[in-house]
Amino acid sequence: MTTLRSFSEMETMHRACSIVVETLAILAEHTKPGVTTKELDLVAAENLRKHGAKSAFLGYHGFPATLCVSVNEEVVHGIPGKRVLNEGDIVGLDFGAIVDGYYGDAARTVAVGQVSPEAERLMKVTQESLMLAIETAHPGKRLGDIGHAVESHAVRHGYTVVRELSGHGIGRKLHEDPQVPNYGPPGKRERLQPGMCLALEPMVNAGAAATRTLDDKWTVVTEDRSLSAHYELTIAVTEHGPWVLSEPYPFAQSVRHA
Ligand code: MG
Repeated sequence: MTTLRSFSEMETMHRACSIVVETLAILAEHTKPGVTTKELDLVAAENLRKHGAKSAFLGYHGFPATLCVSVNEEVVHGIPGKRVLNEGDIVGLDFGAIVDGYYGDAARTVAVGQVSPEAERLMKVTQESLMLAIETAHPGKRLGDIGHAVESHAVRHGYTVVRELSGHGIGRKLHEDPQVPNYGPPGKRERLQPGMCLALEPMVNAGAAATRTLDDKWTVVTEDRSLSAHYELTIAVTEHGPWVLSEPYPFAQSVRHA
């Protein structure tokens, strides 16, 4: 069952989400040729420590790191380690924080040096599909409308969306109800209501949609080893529309949702 959050709960999540997005910006600066994925994990852990926040990922179902680092054909859940990043790689960075018991979750894909025009375009379209998903998140719309916004944009550009993994509700836990698939049909699934907090996260593949999980039990890759990109933000549905919880409250303070 989907839990509806109060405005003060959203404000606490806003603190968690702001730390996450700030950390991703710092990580993007560090994502350069010659850097190992483990070094990025240490940067993420250090920024969490600086803010007195806890990792949402470390130990989650046994995940061994603070940051997920997914390179090229890796879709999500890559484990940081000795791998050295090379010019032309694209790197999905997925990160979560806990502040006062509330979670924030976000991800972005970062180019290592100069990347191919194809990789550039995949990243751009995936990011656009996230923005379209967010713009859809008004009360009265349905979860299928969000998925349809993502999928139709990806497909229009010749890409596919990953179907085995979804966005999700978020709040007192990292993954709560509902699931938020990145595909339609529009007009179906649960209706959006003020107080719903959702991590929206399109995973878009340059090739086929199918994925598989590597022997490390975590890293998800495209089955055809085509490039994949991933962007994620945590939002709250308010009566006035979507609030991206890593950004300032976008509506007049006088019309706050109690
Ligand atoms: Mg997530």
